[in-house]
Amino acid sequence: MGIVVQKFGGTSVADSECIKRVARKAIRCKEEGNQVVLVVSAMGRSTNQMIALAREISANPSPREMDMLLTTGEQVTISLMAMALEDMGHSAISFTGGQAGIVTDEFFGKGKIRSIDTKRMKEKLDQGNMLVVAGFQGITHEGELTTLGRGGSDTTAVALAAALDADVCEIYTDVDGVYTTDPRVVPNARKLEFISYDEMLEMASLGAAVLQPRSVEYAKQYDVKIHVRSSFNDSLGTIVREVSEMEKNVIVNGVAFDTRVAKITIAGVPDIPGVAMNIFNRLAKENINVDMIVQSNHKGDVNDISFTVSTSESKVALTVMEELNEVLKAQGISFDDTVSKISIVGAGMQSNPGVAASMFEALAEADVNIQMISTSEIKVSCIIAREEVQEAVKALHDKFELERK
Ligand code: ADP
Ligand code: ASP
Ligand code: MG
Repeated sequence: MGIVVQKFGGTSVADSECIKRVARKAIRCKEEGNQVVLVVSAMGRSTNQMIALAREISANPSPREMDMLLTTGEQVTISLMAMALEDMGHSAISFTGGQAGIVTDEFFGKGKIRSIDTKRMKEKLDQGNMLVVAGFQGITHEGELTTLGRGGSDTTAVALAAALDADVCEIYTDVDGVYTTDPRVVPNARKLEFISYDEMLEMASLGAAVLQPRSVEYAKQYDVKIHVRSSFNDSLGTIVREVSEMEKNVIVNGVAFDTRVAKITIAGVPDIPGVAMNIFNRLAKENINVDMIVQSNHKGDVNDISFTVSTSESKVALTVMEELNEVLKAQGISFDDTVSKISIVGAGMQSNPGVAASMFEALAEADVNIQMISTSEIKVSCIIAREEVQEAVKALHDKFELERK
């Protein structure tokens, strides 16, 4: 008997009807002869609502108390889902992340899974139960509750699939699969039958919310097959898996964008060794992820250094830079949280010169100004004004004819 992990996101469990629909889907999987582990998110937009509520109470709530609050969202869903399964005649048991044996490091709000003790889950599965596990959460060795970062239920699901050696990890969501870009922005975006781990990882890291990047990292590392599909119909979705070199012939596979980006510029910093080290060491010490970095050509004996961070960390990054400036003696620090990152992704890009040029051409034709550029073997990213994102995504999708196979 195989194990199937099925993850259902917020929209899929938004109300009691949705919860019953999900329960029926999971029961069908069990009746096909599988042991089933459900991983569920908080209902609807309740995580966002709790964040807003916390902000009404405090401008700067402590990360520990935020996690204490946010973990309750998934806990509501697991109990209701287990009740629905039992009501339909199937024995089921709900587990918080900690009860499922998920141990994380101590970073509140962005915990990383350190280990999973599957003993209790296996026992309950072998007794014939369906398991319902709270996504997005774990527990530290000290017993603190942690969350895994926004969208973290995907990571819980893939990590459980790896630990339990499941046949497949099914990610049920509100779209039919992974598309060439967000189908809500470009209506003629095309559903991909399959996508490689590397391309999916790039797409997710560059803003495609359909999977949390870490879930794809785990899937690649532990060779977990992911099937992204709709919880509202039975059609096949997108398989994320290893692909052969032969299959990596598509030059550009998708367009991703991330509107949660802020840019910080340290202007007129002395052009001497050690400045970049000081800046980025300091940010690393605060556990802030820096994305793009650009150092401009020096003017006289000073440089400008710009970098981007996630908007969720931008205020802390700015404060840290202002403190550091007492040592750096830069002429000024500027902050812009009205930017976004737009990227093209494709494994075939590395052997096809001119792809970046085509991207810049499409953006120029759409009259979109590029503020920063970064490239890797399989992606090109640009920072642009946030208000131009939708137009830019459409322009790139058209330029690379992604609606056509
Ligand atoms: P869930 O609550 O099920 O985890 P999410 O909102 O986190 O759902 O992720 C699904 C959303 O991801 C879709 O509604 C879609 O708008 C967005 N999305 C962004 N890029 C893509 C893409 N390339 N393919 C499919 N969906 C995408
Ligand atoms: N509820 C969490 C969030 O909204 C985790 C998830 O849905 O994956 O980010
Ligand atoms: Mg999600």
